[in-house]
Amino acid sequence: MSVTDLASKLSLALKREVENKFDATQLEDGEWFHYMVVEYLGEIRKTVKTPLELVQIDELVNDFNRYPLLPLADRKKLCQQLLNLMKKYAQVTKELASDAESEAVYDPKELWDVPVAKVKGVGSKMQSSLEKLGLKSVWDLLHYVPMRFVDRSKILKIRQLTPGVDATVMGTVYEVKLQKTFKGYRLLTVTLQDETGRLDLVFFNQEFLAKKFHKGQRLIVTGKVESNHNRLQLSNLKSDSFEILETGKDILPMVPVYRAGSGTTGNMLRKVIFNAVDEYVRNVPEIYPYAENKGFRPYGSAIQGLHRPENQSQFEECRREIAYREIFVLQVLLSLRRKVATQSRGFAFHVEPDWIEELQKNLAFQLTNAQRRVIAEILADMQGEKPMNRLLQGDVGSGKTVVAMFAMFVAAKNGKQSAVMVPTEVLAFQHYMVFSEWADRFGLRVGLLVGSLPASEKEKVKRYLQSGQLDIVIGTHALIQEDTVFKDLGLVVIDEQHRFGVQQRAALINMGKETQPDVLVMSATPIPRTLVLTYYGDLEVSVIDELPPNRKPVKTFWVSEKKRSAVYEAVIRELNEGRQAYVVAPLIEESESIEAAAATKLYEELSSGFLKDYKVGLLHGRMNKDEKKNVMDAFRKGDIQVLVSTTVIEVGVDVPNATVMVIEGADRFGLSQLHQLRGRVVRSSFQPYCYLIADAKTEDGVERLEAMVKYTDGFTLAEKDLHLRGPGELLGEQQHGFFGMRVANLLKDMKMLEPARADAKRLIAEDPNLEGARCSFLKKYLKKEFEDASHLLDVA
Ligand code: ADP
Ligand code: MG
Repeated sequence: MSVTDLASKLSLALKREVENKFDATQLEDGEWFHYMVVEYLGEIRKTVKTPLELVQIDELVNDFNRYPLLPLADRKKLCQQLLNLMKKYAQVTKELASDAESEAVYDPKELWDVPVAKVKGVGSKMQSSLEKLGLKSVWDLLHYVPMRFVDRSKILKIRQLTPGVDATVMGTVYEVKLQKTFKGYRLLTVTLQDETGRLDLVFFNQEFLAKKFHKGQRLIVTGKVESNHNRLQLSNLKSDSFEILETGKDILPMVPVYRAGSGTTGNMLRKVIFNAVDEYVRNVPEIYPYAENKGFRPYGSAIQGLHRPENQSQFEECRREIAYREIFVLQVLLSLRRKVATQSRGFAFHVEPDWIEELQKNLAFQLTNAQRRVIAEILADMQGEKPMNRLLQGDVGSGKTVVAMFAMFVAAKNGKQSAVMVPTEVLAFQHYMVFSEWADRFGLRVGLLVGSLPASEKEKVKRYLQSGQLDIVIGTHALIQEDTVFKDLGLVVIDEQHRFGVQQRAALINMGKETQPDVLVMSATPIPRTLVLTYYGDLEVSVIDELPPNRKPVKTFWVSEKKRSAVYEAVIRELNEGRQAYVVAPLIEESESIEAAAATKLYEELSSGFLKDYKVGLLHGRMNKDEKKNVMDAFRKGDIQVLVSTTVIEVGVDVPNATVMVIEGADRFGLSQLHQLRGRVVRSSFQPYCYLIADAKTEDGVERLEAMVKYTDGFTLAEKDLHLRGPGELLGEQQHGFFGMRVANLLKDMKMLEPARADAKRLIAEDPNLEGARCSFLKKYLKKEFEDASHLLDVA
């Protein structure tokens, strides 16, 4: 450990020791305070010159070795001596520190590999607070966008002020007054003067600030001008509204205000981020090869301007230039994906015109026009030489499954196998049942491959897939985890795509033999167009924009906990009409088993209470495969009237006679999840109902529930969700910095998509493997941020 590191660790330790009343503290990392001191003194000893200093240190070492045995007064005295010594050697340590710092600055490491702890002013406590804000590396710090600025770019004279405007003034403190109002509030008034007049600065209940001000001090302060009995004042001031001026200190024209978390304040964050900018910004290489042509400032200057702009419009410009870079990088990734996908050879399926009619004849319903249109789009892709890469979008209940069935039918007619990958076992069973029923009519053979099957069963299915005795396999992750081998895989269908990573998609695709299988991705959540362009920019898109006929809009009610009984009375009315119902237990994210326990409790309560005269069943993720299957079968047949469940029924489950959805603790669910759940009861021509039971505790919760009551259309709700929670949550990618976007905001910066896409295409055309020097940083960044980038670049 270097002397600097030791010194900073030691001063923290010393502080702890004082706090602990000289009790010989054992530090967080297990080391004892006094042993650390001894170690530190040993290092210092190496740097001292005079014999006297040597003797002094040796004495201290001796004493500290027996430290816990000494009386309190002696321990106190020793700590004082140590403190003095540290002060004396502060000079030495400072020099060492600046050496160490310059090392850090010229460290060839990329900035995302430099932990925040390297930044001046960040100790271990601060580090963990920053990490809670998602700020782990210097790169993160540099891209942490201020929420707003205190704008001091124009300083006015007091005489120029008019009530109602936001203004910044500079002047000298004339008087400080602390008063108590009748109601007991503390009112701090600081009178400021400049050569043109006087102005009152008013602080409420911030007594502690009184000590900071004194007559004659120079201040700069920003706030809203008001007039109080003809006297001008700035009121409602906070501790970040003013700054005490000292000679030689620059006045920052725009003071950034950052969102702080627990353990940090806005001011602390500002200091740390400024330190990071000062130390590291010159090490930010250019990531966007056309920056100069575009008239962009260099990347580093843009980051500088993000935090320390001269004025608001310079900040906006810098933010946009960084946002553009982020969107550009993502578009490069998507272009690479597209390119690799089109380079591979696919199978050109043969399609007979009468096959569609043949299938239609065997369906119990007429296809909607939208379904016919997307089927035609898919079949056209399948007939082509290059592999299909298509996203099928459509609201819950719009009938995506049957469309996938068509594609699989065509594959089978061409002697090719299809694999369907779904996110949950419940959904796999469900699809398996629906597909088996259809497949029987068309003479196709369907298998099921999920993790919870007995080993012998799995072996059998895998054997059949290898020998070609199965045309279709439905499965979960097990499909790619097991060493499955296909005889001839021609089509991959991925349902509810957003739950799978790119990697898993790729793994399944690679199971094709000479040619790459066609890929159809079906998204359960309607995704706004903006997001489709960014997130799925490498896929073609088909949209089913029509629900099957005679679907009645769900009647949705938000009901408080107090009125729960009324909800179950309504459920009973529907049950008596012959309908069925779902009751979803509150979402508990900590663990599946706690959630299962909650569902079990709710099941017990309902089946012995409100619903004791009805047949109630229970479904949760901790049940085994047979239990789940039996419950689902019974519900489908109507032997169970009410299914109490966790969110395992969220996706895909299809029981048309179930028309009532009750969601307990509805405020805990996300908007798209609520919409998915409600979609379970829009599957027939009966009137569906949805009851959201909740006493919403947060503003967000209220907004979500109100949106659910107001809108039934999934695309509208998805737009809402995008505004409420941002794109990461909507697509199920909760991590910070969604797709490398720390600064870009897909809603604000939508217009950048098309030009960034054009730039990306141009770059890939000019330098397909990104080998030029101008791409070196871009390449490194891609590899770091996206799991498939290395593979794409190697292939390209
Ligand atoms: P999702 O798009 O949510 O996956 P599904 O494919 O599960 O929807 O279809 C929802 C329900 O609508 C199913 O019961 C399905 O059989 C039925 N369905 C699909 N297409 C039609 C149609 N054209 N007319 C009537 N019912 C249909
Ligand atoms: Mg579906």
